[in-house]
Amino acid sequence: MRQTSAGVIKLLFELHEGLSRAGPGSDEATRRAFRMIPRLSRSPVILDIGCGPGAQTLELARLSGGRVIGLDIHLPFLAHLMSRRREEALSGRISLIQGSMSALGFKPGVFDIIWSEGAIYIHGFDEGLRTWRSFLKEGGVCAVSELSWLTKDPPSEPSTFFSDVYPGMRTVSENLAACRKYGYNIIGHFALPDDAWEKNYYRPLARRLKTFGSKHPDDPDALALISATRREIALFRKYSTAYGYVFYVLRKRGRQPFTRF
Ligand code: SAH
Repeated sequence: MRQTSAGVIKLLFELHEGLSRAGPGSDEATRRAFRMIPRLSRSPVILDIGCGPGAQTLELARLSGGRVIGLDIHLPFLAHLMSRRREEALSGRISLIQGSMSALGFKPGVFDIIWSEGAIYIHGFDEGLRTWRSFLKEGGVCAVSELSWLTKDPPSEPSTFFSDVYPGMRTVSENLAACRKYGYNIIGHFALPDDAWEKNYYRPLARRLKTFGSKHPDDPDALALISATRREIALFRKYSTAYGYVFYVLRKRGRQPFTRF
């Protein structure tokens, strides 16, 4: 979320490789968001942007009965997802694309659903909503999770931390206003429970920090990344009521048939 050098990005990728998630989330949360969608076609075409190792890609394929395209920039994550889709016999319904979320080469209006867990911030929440919208069919659904303030008045410790690492972080109502502004109606939204952070992300990540540290004992960037990650985990344990990942489930608003004066 901060301006990061290429070397640190490489370390960040390495830190997450082999984990089943590269951000907070859970199958339950994916299901809850998916089931909020009314009037869904029986075999939807879904684009999962920033799919990473693909826990939610697999869950979407299981849930939807449709086709899911997982898109990510980092090849080892796609390789991880490729072996998991084979194990679950979902290869026929999940396809993978290595590419950038900022330069999507699809035709307009091709997807029933665009999904993105813990990744839209990379392109920018507003920019993602604005530019991805054209790839949705009329009335299509966009479901994204985004780190959000759960209170208007956050305590100073997390407030200072995030003003450095994610200065663009906003409250839920500010994000909902942005969703409306960029052409969506709100179907619903909810905050991920603490378990989606702890059990599925921070605990495996904390274990990984130990092996990662022993691989890079003298690399100052690696040591800085380890201490920043530890600080982030400790902060969440103290302040998880002040901020969290919020799922926003949105419907692309159709063009108005006429303008009222
Ligand atoms: N949705 C996954 C991964 C979230 S982490 C999960 O919840 O587990 C963010 C993901 O975005 C990573 O997999 C990372 O490789 C990917 N990513 C980073 N920059 C990207 C870009 N420019 N285009 C596409 N994917 C990108």
